Amino acid sequence: MLPRAELDVSAAVLAVGPVCDDVRERGALAVREYTMKFDNVDLRSSLVPREALKAALADLDPAVTAALRESARRATLVHRAQLPAETVTTVADGSSVTERYVPVSRAGVYVPGGLVAYPSSVVMNVIPAQVAGVGQIAVASPPRPEFGGMPHPAILAACELLGVSEVHAAGGAQAIAMLGYGTEYCAQVDTITGPGNVYVAAAKRVLRGVVSTDAEAGPTEVAIVADHAADPRFVAADLIAQAEHDSLAACLLITTDQQLADSVDVELASQLRVARHADRIAAALTGQSACVLVDDLAAAVVVADAWAPEHLEIQAAGAAELARTVRNAGAIFVGAYAPVSLGDYLAGSNHVLPTGGTARHSGGLSVLTFLRGIHMVTCTKDGLAEAAPYIDALGGGEDLAAHVNAVRVRVPAEPETLEPSEPPESVDPPGHAQRLATETSMAAAEASQTRTAAPNTGIGPPPLRADLAGRSPYGAPQVNARARLNTNENPYPPSAELVADIADAVMAAATGLNRYPDRDTMALRGDLASYLGYDLKPEQIWAANGSNEVIQQLLQAYGGPGRSALGFEPSYSMHPIIAKTTSTTWVSAARSEDFTVDAERALAALAEFKPDLIFLTSPNNPTGTAMPLSVIEQVCEHATGMVVVDEAYREFAKDQAGTALGLLPRYPGLVVVRTMSKAFALAGARVGYLAADKRVVDGLQVVRLPYHLSAMTQATARAALAHAGELLARVSVLCAARDDLIGWLRARGLRAADSDTNFVMFGTFSDRHAVWQALLDRGVLVREVGPPGWLRVTIGTDDELDEFRSALDAVLARGDDPPEPPAVLT
Ligand code: PMP
Repeated sequence: MLPRAELDVSAAVLAVGPVCDDVRERGALAVREYTMKFDNVDLRSSLVPREALKAALADLDPAVTAALRESARRATLVHRAQLPAETVTTVADGSSVTERYVPVSRAGVYVPGGLVAYPSSVVMNVIPAQVAGVGQIAVASPPRPEFGGMPHPAILAACELLGVSEVHAAGGAQAIAMLGYGTEYCAQVDTITGPGNVYVAAAKRVLRGVVSTDAEAGPTEVAIVADHAADPRFVAADLIAQAEHDSLAACLLITTDQQLADSVDVELASQLRVARHADRIAAALTGQSACVLVDDLAAAVVVADAWAPEHLEIQAAGAAELARTVRNAGAIFVGAYAPVSLGDYLAGSNHVLPTGGTARHSGGLSVLTFLRGIHMVTCTKDGLAEAAPYIDALGGGEDLAAHVNAVRVRVPAEPETLEPSEPPESVDPPGHAQRLATETSMAAAEASQTRTAAPNTGIGPPPLRADLAGRSPYGAPQVNARARLNTNENPYPPSAELVADIADAVMAAATGLNRYPDRDTMALRGDLASYLGYDLKPEQIWAANGSNEVIQQLLQAYGGPGRSALGFEPSYSMHPIIAKTTSTTWVSAARSEDFTVDAERALAALAEFKPDLIFLTSPNNPTGTAMPLSVIEQVCEHATGMVVVDEAYREFAKDQAGTALGLLPRYPGLVVVRTMSKAFALAGARVGYLAADKRVVDGLQVVRLPYHLSAMTQATARAALAHAGELLARVSVLCAARDDLIGWLRARGLRAADSDTNFVMFGTFSDRHAVWQALLDRGVLVREVGPPGWLRVTIGTDDELDEFRSALDAVLARGDDPPEPPAVLT
């Protein structure tokens, strides 16, 4: 028999039942009376004023504030990883089931405030709810006379820190009933979580069925599996730390080594002498605690599994492998340096764990506590027809004729084929029966041959992922026009010298093509760091096949299912497309009339969507202008997720100091994306890159394919970087041509948006497609993108721009041709 304190929740249910009923009947008034009776505080409303939350946070020891912040950051990371992905399963042709995980609308979190206040409990309950996406969170904690009838200020401060503004000063069973049934001051919640005493546990049991709840929390417990190599000081410290919670805490040492057991005893005695809560600790250690001596570590695991502890520590050789063999535990702390105290506060794991042996069947608090899986069933008519015979059989077998009918009313059964009429009775000539049998089986074989051929020819390849079905590949038309001004390429091919250098570099690389290339592309990253300046280190740079791939890797690593990315549209259309293909939810906010985004607009969108990633395209494609650095800075200040500044066109901007690179040291969540496709005239080589905190780059390694950037690409990019001076001089030429073109367009009475890029958005036309086509008919290919009525032209060579100008003049002059004349609106 292993020790464990008894917790008689059933008896407490009898006591709290009437309290819960009373709150259900009389609402806030009943809560007020019980609060007066049990907590000695009279509160007209259970709601804690917001000022009290703010004041509590302002008064909190800054070291505690910082620690709670770090605890919340780590917990957020761990709980985000728990978010289940939406799954789509095609069960047969035309029939699929999508499983979506949807958060509850409103959660109630109980935070006890008895002997000691645990702000860490606020973190452990609120973070999973927030990560799950719960819309409203109400916290309840007992009021305390010594704090002016408010809950413990540390709890209020933690709520404020996490952005929970609804806090109720209510404790015990009446608080659980208030959350579960709702009162005038507290709307009914859907889920209640959080630890508490036996009355809280009993009230949750009473409310089960009305709301969902987390596991019933009993007295805390730890089992430590230790061998001869364990440090007795560590083991004793952890037993004492657990005992410090509660005189009913259970602490079990399971060891293979008698000597260790003796040393732990000695340590316990000496550490207990200086312990702060010595009475409580002594009571726990002499009460429901024990030392179990076992033959080997496998036996230790058997004992631990049988006891199913809330916390299990393994301080023994091969701890990690041993941990994998454990079946029953709330959380496992592996090795000498992962004590339970780390998990209580800062590991990022959840500290609300199953007690009393319930780890046999339950896990700890998680985002799943606040989510429900909803199956979305879709079926085509053919799919239903295929399933129908089975439903006939099952519905018929269960005598549920209406079930069968609900299917057959949609896909009626084929009319029964008539049995062939009996052949006239005759005496078969000898051999006839034999022949008939052979013919029949040949016919059957033929038929079965056509059937077996069918799956390959008729059904075709497996269906595309449901969320991609119906999408067409992205890409601008690749038409062989004389002036190709539609994809923002650099019109100047590499100079003869650069071509020669690239050829040399590629030739040198070719001699080693039997080997995979440098997987980390270190030399190229070094060159890119030097090119960018700002004291960037190679470890802060990452390169891939075009900035599109960089963006894809960012979304794979930092977006994905359950996460969202925000953009200000109109903007670069690949951002939402890559978001979708990586199963990242795309949300967008509109740019203002003049296509700018000021700080107010940006911060409002941040507050509304709280995206995991925010894309700021600066200068923007297709509209052209850069975003002021001050706005980017404000976004970085307020963003809780990653800020991706897409600077594909940065080298073309009028204000070269406007790059976000200078902000990198201050904002670890900031990422600046660049490309060699534009200014470096290297679109054909496919090289994009980013600069960010080293940790962001480390994260990308997890999703990049090994050797993603070929040796030829790396060599080519490095050769081009060595010619940066010459290439950037060309950029100045293009910028001058751009400014001229803007002047020319405006002089024609057209609108031309300001531009910090190598393109200009112009218009507006009542039928822009007609204008696009008319230009193409004259050999000039521009792009039909942007807000309605606008077209985008890339700055080409002087000759190409001359072609563009004369083609546009001709189109404008014609007026009556094409059939829908391109009316100029402004
Ligand atoms: N970002 C923006 C804003 C773009 O306009 C483009 C391409 N037009 C890219 C990224 C991707 O460029 P690449 O993949 O060639 O680096």
